[in-house]
Amino acid sequence: MDKFGYMEQYGYEQLSMFHDKHTGLKAITCIHNTVLGPALGGTRVWNYTNEEDAIEDVLRLARGMTYKSALAGLELGGGKSVIIGDVSVIRKDPVRREAFWRAFGRYIAGLNGRYITAEDVNTSTQDMVYVNLETDNVVGLPGRSGDPSPYTARGAFKSLKACCKFIYGDDSVKGKTVAVQGTGNTGYYLCKYLHEEGANLVVCDISQERIDRVVNEFGAKVVAPDDIYAVDCDIYAPCALGATANSDTIPQMKCKIICGTANNVLKDPAVHAKMLEDKGITYAPDYLVNAGGVINVFYELQPGGYDEAAALRDIDRIYYRMLDVLNIAKETGKYTYETADKMAEDRIEAMKNIKSIMTCGGRK
Ligand code: NAD
Repeated sequence: MDKFGYMEQYGYEQLSMFHDKHTGLKAITCIHNTVLGPALGGTRVWNYTNEEDAIEDVLRLARGMTYKSALAGLELGGGKSVIIGDVSVIRKDPVRREAFWRAFGRYIAGLNGRYITAEDVNTSTQDMVYVNLETDNVVGLPGRSGDPSPYTARGAFKSLKACCKFIYGDDSVKGKTVAVQGTGNTGYYLCKYLHEEGANLVVCDISQERIDRVVNEFGAKVVAPDDIYAVDCDIYAPCALGATANSDTIPQMKCKIICGTANNVLKDPAVHAKMLEDKGITYAPDYLVNAGGVINVFYELQPGGYDEAAALRDIDRIYYRMLDVLNIAKETGKYTYETADKMAEDRIEAMKNIKSIMTCGGRK
């Protein structure tokens, strides 16, 4: 990969690698854009087969965070970290685990506030507590905004209701059938919201324990993982993996709406947005749907400290933002993902322009 070429093409600011030989830490942080504020994005631990895969992943994820925070109206830029390693090995030895995460914290401290980290795949709040011993540039800590998953699910539920309003003229999910792929941290809470409002749930997961939870608590019906796409439903809610709307799955789909917490749902946006449109399926842009978690952690950074009521009010605004995107896409004849991208890019550009005005010691 031509890294500088890629960074130039997509407007990246920084790509940093950090190694600590004592703990074996191999971390890569990417700062995509800081026009709106410090780059915020979680840290993912993954056993990447090679460094190139890790770098591609961190670049893609960091840019996604720029768009997510910009569209959510936050004063945050986009960044992400990946750590190359096996999480079970890191967690096995308590002393090594503490040293590992504190070494990572010292590296983040060295970025001097340009990047703020949080949990992501294979990282826990306890890991972030260790990071916090070395730097304040970490959010999602226990006793503050905590686990983002319920907030992400709440934003997804509001998005799903906005889609129902747009398609059916009524935002209630009562009596609607929702096929939920993945009943993990976010999928579980989304099922809870849907069940409470009277939706019928059809679910799949590769973990029997996670399936049992939603069957017992919400009376969900279960299908095999590969059968979820063909379920006769109103809404398909991907809450597990990326790229699940693709050339194999779209022909099987019977839903009217795709709206779930997963990132990068369209395998190839240019190709698969068209396939969905041809089938009359409305696609709710993923980073608009799943912004509840980042909105919630943003409130941890406010001078007065974390205020859950304010965070929830802001998360609930996703409903209106989703309706705007769907209506503008319809009026302009653009795909919903293109409309969301443009709204995010327009906000970044407008804020970049106002920052050219000298404030003589104003706030920033
Ligand atoms: P999670 O790991 O808790 O849950 C994912 C679930 O999917 C697990 O139960 C897993 O067993 C299941 N799964 C894996 N492969 C599957 C398959 N082939 N078929 C069916 N189920 C399968 O993760 P999560 O935190 O709920 O995140 C889900 C998605 O949402 C991810 O794409 C994540 O990037 C995205 N997301 C999460 C948050 C958050 O706040 N947690 C925020 C934004 C985006």
